Amino acid sequence: MPEFPTLIDQINALLPQTQCGQCSFQGCRPYAEAIASGVADINQCPPGGDEGIRDLADLLGVSPKPLNTHFGVHKPASVAFIVEEDCIGCTKCIAACPVDAILGAAKFMHTVIASECTGCELCIAPCPVDCIIMQPAPPTNADGHRAQKSAQAKRRYDARCLRKEKEEVEKAERAKKKKQALLAANLRRNMPKA
Ligand code: SF4
Ligand code: SF4
Ligand code: SF4
Repeated sequence: MPEFPTLIDQINALLPQTQCGQCSFQGCRPYAEAIASGVADINQCPPGGDEGIRDLADLLGVSPKPLNTHFGVHKPASVAFIVEEDCIGCTKCIAACPVDAILGAAKFMHTVIASECTGCELCIAPCPVDCIIMQPAPPTNADGHRAQKSAQAKRRYDARCLRKEKEEVEKAERAKKKKQALLAANLRRNMPKA
């Protein structure tokens, strides 16, 4: 964050950073941008619940209001758990987890790092064998300070985004080199023989 955080940064810092999308935006920052521009209301984040709405209301100098249940209901903290004997090692849950809280490799069973899981539930739908279930969060997750937990989730989410960006750049570089090599090979093949 810059030395003087923008309003969007300040709003984003109050959001839970699960990136779950229940607010109808593609993650916490897009929702923060929508609030700052007046497109979205402050009561659209079920994971943040009433406490989150109060924090946003205080920051923006408006009155708090009840959570709009059209976007979902506030639930107790939970974490994902993989029934390992049923896992087929497809890695789809890893691809879906915004905070890299799942460990595993292709064709090997996967496991959730409970202390890093935000309970966003984004890994559940992609699992082809329905072997991910939600369980009550351990006390270490459930009792932590909200701001501390969301800052930790944001750090992991930002790190994942950076890694993904780097992977995309590397993939594009590899594709470019392959194309250049193919072009060079074609040129050599079509050159008249001396
Ligand atoms: S945690 Fe809240 S703000 Fe972030 S994506 Fe989920 S609903 Fe939206
Ligand atoms: S393990 Fe599942 S529920 Fe936990 S943070 Fe990752 S995607 Fe969300
Ligand atoms: S999506 Fe399900 S089956 Fe695939 S690796 Fe994850 S837990 Fe295992």
